[in-house]
Amino acid sequence: MAVLGIESTAHTASVGIVGEGAEVLSLVSDMYCPPKGGIHPREAANHHVDVLPDLVHRALEEAHVRPGEVDAVAFAQGPGLGPCLRAGATVARMLSLAWDRPLVPVNHCVAHVEIARVLSGLDDPLLLYASGGNTQVIAYARGRYRVLGETLDIGIGNFLDKLWIELGGTFPGGPALELEARRSSGELVSLPYSVHGMDVAFSGILTATLALHAKGIARPDLAYAVEVTSYAMLTEITERALAHRRRDAVVLGGGVACNERLRAMVRTMVEGRGGTMFAPPRSLCVDNGAMIAWTGLLALRAGLTVPVEASAVQPRQRTDLVATPWRAG
Ligand code: AMP
Ligand code: MG
Repeated sequence: MAVLGIESTAHTASVGIVGEGAEVLSLVSDMYCPPKGGIHPREAANHHVDVLPDLVHRALEEAHVRPGEVDAVAFAQGPGLGPCLRAGATVARMLSLAWDRPLVPVNHCVAHVEIARVLSGLDDPLLLYASGGNTQVIAYARGRYRVLGETLDIGIGNFLDKLWIELGGTFPGGPALELEARRSSGELVSLPYSVHGMDVAFSGILTATLALHAKGIARPDLAYAVEVTSYAMLTEITERALAHRRRDAVVLGGGVACNERLRAMVRTMVEGRGGTMFAPPRSLCVDNGAMIAWTGLLALRAGLTVPVEASAVQPRQRTDLVATPWRAG
């Protein structure tokens, strides 16, 4: 069995093909990086329209799979930027019709959980999902993936990106801040720490960091303080969720989960509690077509296909509104 998955929720257009046991047969991606400033949804969508046909060809070629051997076409239905979602959904519908294969809608956040879950071998882990637009702690309970905690304002990645651009850099800011932080003197300047139960907020740290920058605090020291402070907040809400839900395993997902410091801080916390932490390889932490394909395969087995006319994208689709019958057993 092979399922082709299309991811296009934000800046990344990606196509992956996975097999029955979650083998990633191919994964090809192309990220939209604006020359300056943040992401404009329409420009990102135009980028996806340009690159997706070629990505589909390359994914088939790399997987040595012919269209006739694809069992279903899965696509990210939401949450995400409307124009970007529609670009991917249009390609998925077209392939489904042309190849006469079922169309499977997939929730992007659930896909992050499912790929990490199968790769980790952990049965029921909690997910710390730290990406550009999303920052959530997610756990399965009574038929659904539930959001236990989340950002009250912007996603952690958007926060890092915006900060880095304000400090004179270009998108994406997260990886650049990680390198910048390594050049810090190691002196920790104080920033607002904003945890509310199992929720977090980042806009206050953004304002405070820019104010310190204006006062002349060196950029590496700001990067270090931003990383330590914001990742400590994520680690704290993850620990609180573990304690409340009586779990002992955590998986990571999202582009910010590529960060070495975040991985180390969460690992220290989880292992300190006697639990297990797993972070997927970076290519499967960031937005990618393979996680959509794998979750599409689970959904296909559960019979969750849609006709083209009922396949509208859902930019605000909530994780806990999506049925996950494959988890029921
Ligand atoms: P995603 O939305 O999941 O594709 O992730 C994209 C986000 O991840 C962007 O905001 C990036 O700045 C951020 N990101 C990628 N790599 C890193 C890293 N090494 N450290 C922190 N943030 C990162
Ligand atoms: Mg994502």
